[in-house]
Amino acid sequence: MVTARAALGAAPARGNGCERHNPMAPRPHWLFGDQLGPHFVNPRGGGPGAHAPLVMIEARSVLRRRRFHRAKAHLVLSAMRHRAAELGDRVTYVRAETYAEGLEQALGHPPAPLTVCHPTSRRALDFARTRKEVEVLPAKGFMVSHDDFARWADSRQGLRLESFYRWVRARHDLLMDGGEPAGGRWNLDHDNREPPPRGQETLDVRGPWQPREDAIDDEVRHDLDRWERDGDVSFVGRDGPRRFPATRREALSALRHFITHRLPDFGRYEDAMLAGDPVLSHSLLSAPLNLGLLDPAECVERAERAFRAGDAPLNSVEGFVRQIAGWREYVWHLYWHFGEDYRHRNALRHTTPLPDWFLDLDAEAVTANCLSTVLAQVRDTGWTHHIPRLMVLGSRALQDGWDPAAVTDWFHRCFVDGYDWVMLPNVVGMSQYADGGLMTTKPYTSGGAYINKMSDLCGPCAYRPTARTGDHACPYTAGYWAFLHRHRARLAANHRTSRAVKGLDRLKDLPELLDDTARRGDTPP
Ligand code: FAD
Ligand code: SF4
Repeated sequence: MVTARAALGAAPARGNGCERHNPMAPRPHWLFGDQLGPHFVNPRGGGPGAHAPLVMIEARSVLRRRRFHRAKAHLVLSAMRHRAAELGDRVTYVRAETYAEGLEQALGHPPAPLTVCHPTSRRALDFARTRKEVEVLPAKGFMVSHDDFARWADSRQGLRLESFYRWVRARHDLLMDGGEPAGGRWNLDHDNREPPPRGQETLDVRGPWQPREDAIDDEVRHDLDRWERDGDVSFVGRDGPRRFPATRREALSALRHFITHRLPDFGRYEDAMLAGDPVLSHSLLSAPLNLGLLDPAECVERAERAFRAGDAPLNSVEGFVRQIAGWREYVWHLYWHFGEDYRHRNALRHTTPLPDWFLDLDAEAVTANCLSTVLAQVRDTGWTHHIPRLMVLGSRALQDGWDPAAVTDWFHRCFVDGYDWVMLPNVVGMSQYADGGLMTTKPYTSGGAYINKMSDLCGPCAYRPTARTGDHACPYTAGYWAFLHRHRARLAANHRTSRAVKGLDRLKDLPELLDDTARRGDTPP
């Protein structure tokens, strides 16, 4: 067992309350690595348990199981160790092989009774629920409770983001004026789809907040180096300087910086891509939100305040609120609502394994400028915004028929903000249409024309976005038609894609296009 101080190299503290459980004392409370904000520490508010001793477990088996992005491993360990350092002697910080071993190290054999907030993955929830000493408390870190979502879902015929989002807005009185949406419209997406300004390599916006690394980051980097050297774990991607907040204080600085300097331009260029400016006006808050360092309600409330004060326009604020109070909440609840077998859905029967160049984030192996650029962003930072995720990475996987479970695993491992709950609906549903339309009404994929319109990536590319065949054929354009052809029957029956399918009949070069596509196989595009 290691106290927080020992985890950081200091002498072990004595008698922190976890080693022997006094039946009169409040039960210890376990914090998972994505439950790091103040709202997880006293989950029952004041009263009994308000000062319960805390337990944190750094389980090595989690890193051993999969090949994570190194920047993600760094961020999570850094955030956990920073939190332990802040909590001081109140926390027992254990380094163990598994959670089960960690509980025994912290709380004896068998472990003393303890509480934990509802974990964010089914695996962790199952573990907690099967341990009789663990009491699972309601989830924290989301705006809508499980019970409220269940009541909402039961009252609907089908689930749609737009109606969920409006319901959340009204319930939380978010951007509302006397029961009506501020500005008279619920949805300002139409104003938020501008292509990037032509001829500009970057947006004219203050850059994102950046952290300064400290001794804890050095220690984490040292440990990761050692584990890799010992052959204990293997990572993908680069662990450059840490880019995302690892403490509550850093997360609040990042939020403040975003609201003050970047929120006003958030909406307009939300869907745009620039090779030289991958972050544009995005908030980069998914990582601290998903680590539990920020509460979603405080993020949207601050954005609304900026709007009310006249510091940010409605389209940007509505766009940001939609992402957090709409999409993030919706995705969280769909993860639980869709059930365990959702991860195995494969409606399109896609079974191709992921090619090595993709698994290894080998951007240099790829000729297609959009894919190479985005793959390099993932390799270097573990992050890209939603359009590269959906329309470059996910679209490539969908067009090439990659196994959706393997694609989900790849996103989970390679993104700093990737967790089981957020990956499954976003990848299985949104990006790979593997649920056959439970989450979206049509598959999200496009030809090169969309990427050309929304980015500056096609100009320097060796391919032409309009070319379907031949040496300059754009893999997205050819891949789009090949995808429609492969799933012609299903997509013809969907009113949102039937027109596109009819376009196939007008393609005189379809046989040549299909031959070219088949010949390419898994060679990097
Ligand atoms: P912003 O564009 O600034 O948006 C603000 C916030 O809204 C984000 O920080 C995030 O918390 C929330 N948000 C927006 N869309 C979603 C969404 N679809 N699901 C959940 N939260 C959302 N988001 C993750 O947090 N983790 C993931 O692993 C993840 N995987 C994705 C995989 C695919 C294929 C796609 C299409 C989207 C995925 N997203 C994921 C959603 C979205 O891409 C990221 O939340 C966003 O790009 C993070 O950058 P940001 O913080 O700058 O977001
Ligand atoms: Fe990507 Fe095609 Fe544009 Fe090249 S031409 S950048 S492959 S969309």
